[in-house]
Amino acid sequence: MVVKFLDLQKQYLSIKEEIDSSIFQVINSSSYVGGKFVSEFEKNFADFLGSNNYCIGLGNGTDAIEIALWSLDLPPESEVIVPANTFIATSEAVTTSGLKVIFADCEEDYNVSASTIEKQITDKTRVIIVVHLYGQPAKMDEIIALLQKYPEIKLIEDCSQAHGAGFRGQRVGTFGALATFSFYPGKNLGAYGDAGCVVTKDKNLAEKIVMYANHGRSSHYTHEIEGRNSRLDGIQAAILNVKLRHLHKWLEIRNNLAEAYLAGLKDTSIILPKVSEDKFHSWHLFVIRHPKRDQLKEFLGKMDIHTGIHYPVALPNLHAYRNHGQNCKDFLASRIDCELLSLPIGEHLSIEDVYLVVDRIKKFPDL
Ligand SMILES: *Cc1c(COP(=O)(O)O)cnc(C)c1O
Repeated sequence: MVVKFLDLQKQYLSIKEEIDSSIFQVINSSSYVGGKFVSEFEKNFADFLGSNNYCIGLGNGTDAIEIALWSLDLPPESEVIVPANTFIATSEAVTTSGLKVIFADCEEDYNVSASTIEKQITDKTRVIIVVHLYGQPAKMDEIIALLQKYPEIKLIEDCSQAHGAGFRGQRVGTFGALATFSFYPGKNLGAYGDAGCVVTKDKNLAEKIVMYANHGRSSHYTHEIEGRNSRLDGIQAAILNVKLRHLHKWLEIRNNLAEAYLAGLKDTSIILPKVSEDKFHSWHLFVIRHPKRDQLKEFLGKMDIHTGIHYPVALPNLHAYRNHGQNCKDFLASRIDCELLSLPIGEHLSIEDVYLVVDRIKKFPDL
């Protein structure tokens, strides 16, 4: 039996009728770009996160970070602190916005913390981008307390892996000045193509983002500023509207599977994800650590258990950052990237699948 890492076809078949009819409605009303399905999703997703939010649908999650940064009108070369341990989109969007990336280390929960962030703050720091990595909320109480000491620094939350995750009952995406989400197909809430959004409570920022994402328009041919094209498609929005209705259930399944992994692997040499009561984890990824990671991955692969690595090289050590100049060799993120292994998790799996994976891992000779 194959234990797949991701199975989008199985998910589609479980909601086929709703999805097919939603796509048909978009085509039938020609609401291809923007339009009522997009507004409906923007409203639903803003409400899902809590009260008083504006949600602006965009082309993808990388554009969302870029456009969120643009909306802050920062002086060129302002410094933006980003995690060393995340997907490159987070840092890339900083550079492509003409700003300077400064990496912050992660802690044992794989997220940046108030202390790893504070080490990187200079008088040029204007933004901190916190990523709720793997779906686990960062310690937002400590980070918010830190930011109170630096009122000129804005917080952006990159929530691309954390749709529906929460810290002490508050959904991620509502702590910072701005939050960004990706709806790439493999995310916990995924479209059938590229899609993303920015969420903010600030009406002024929301209006700027709407303009930037649509050629700087205030009306059809009135361009207040130069922007770009990064709009959400009607078909993607209609699909997201359907999937948002199932997200609670899918998050519950992910949490149950994670619990089964945690219980099943607890007395082994595997380093398990650190969980805490005050966080609701969206379990986008279930990431373990082992010194013989490559052998374990190969061992599981031979038994048809598909795994992933997130991420094989910490960002500062990527070729793309060879001329970056910041010394991050001592970072925890740099030391552990060779040990990380993502086990299969998702609503396509049953608890028996997890028992099977646990059983196989326990047969690994070097455990
Ligand atoms: C997926 C992802 C992004 C980028 O989203 P796209 O929609 O692929 O552009 C950004 N940040 C993180 C943490 C991600 O996981």
